[in-house]
Amino acid sequence: MSVPLSQMWTVGSYVLRQKLAGRTRYPLVLMLEPLFRCNLACAGCGKIQYPAHILRRHLTVDECLRAVDECGAPMVSIPGGEPLMYPEIGTLVRELIRRKKYVYLCTNALLLEQRLREGVFEPARYFSFSVHLDGLGPEHDDAVCREGVYETALAAIRAALQRGFRVTTNTTLFDGADPARVRQFFDAMMDLGVEGMMISPGYSYTKAPDQEHFLARQRAHALFSAILERPRRGWRFNQSPLFLKFLMGKLDFECTPWGNPTYNLFGWQRPCYLLQEGYAASFRELMETTQWEQYGRRSGNPKCRDCMVHCGHEPTAVDYTFASWRGFRQAVVATVTGRL
Ligand code: SF4
Ligand code: SF4
Repeated sequence: MSVPLSQMWTVGSYVLRQKLAGRTRYPLVLMLEPLFRCNLACAGCGKIQYPAHILRRHLTVDECLRAVDECGAPMVSIPGGEPLMYPEIGTLVRELIRRKKYVYLCTNALLLEQRLREGVFEPARYFSFSVHLDGLGPEHDDAVCREGVYETALAAIRAALQRGFRVTTNTTLFDGADPARVRQFFDAMMDLGVEGMMISPGYSYTKAPDQEHFLARQRAHALFSAILERPRRGWRFNQSPLFLKFLMGKLDFECTPWGNPTYNLFGWQRPCYLLQEGYAASFRELMETTQWEQYGRRSGNPKCRDCMVHCGHEPTAVDYTFASWRGFRQAVVATVTGRL
């Protein structure tokens, strides 16, 4: 497992402070979407389908920072759209680092080498590229509907690593993924030298046109068990080992969508990164007026029934880690031994 110790300490002490303060709902990672436009057109993407006048717009750096300050989460993930197309991305990242936020810039890496050459970013322990790769070359190029993207991303990862940047990968796995190929992909990422990998099952956005590959819960457990059972020595995951056990069906977590709040052009998105059930004007309004009990599997909401995505369930895994000695011990054992 590979989350750097300083980051573990920051997150652990933050969660403990929330618990000591008696807060049951608190944000862990802010999903900050400064824009929706992208230089790819993946079949499962619910972002790039907005009309052109929305795709042309983006948040200002001030709007982004106001959201970050309002929310207070120790980590900020910048998805999109493609954040490397955001004209102020360098300034935004610098400001977030100045605020000591751990920043994950989620990118398809098509523009990464160019941005590195332009000197837009500097390496920092608070800052990591999180490169979207959904498998080895054929699988990834198929997922993003364009040939050659995998090789471009690999070249960009090498360039970023050579310059001393932290680089992680994020992978969404859909029904029909071949466990053996996914394991080969993990080996390839480790050989490449990335710091850690993040994985999550795919899920049906309401706006996504490609509904046919989304995983039902039982099939997801079977898939992730086949992938993660007997993990190779040396595989490093940049996420909670207890979330991985949840994916395998060894732990059962309910969704805690407030753990990963989403802010974008429309405001604070209810209730999570995936569903769009209205927007709140402030973070406080989001937390206080969202009908949280209407979401998650136990709510009976059909939209949540088969969902196991990381943005809803990884914060639960982190909270569980610090909620009892049992959870803490399970996380430590999995982290130290690498066994899931
Ligand atoms: S790279 Fe991401 S944002 Fe761009 S089209 Fe694909 S899924 Fe959507
Ligand atoms: S289970 Fe949670 S993350 Fe999944 S769709 Fe429902 S609210 Fe969103």
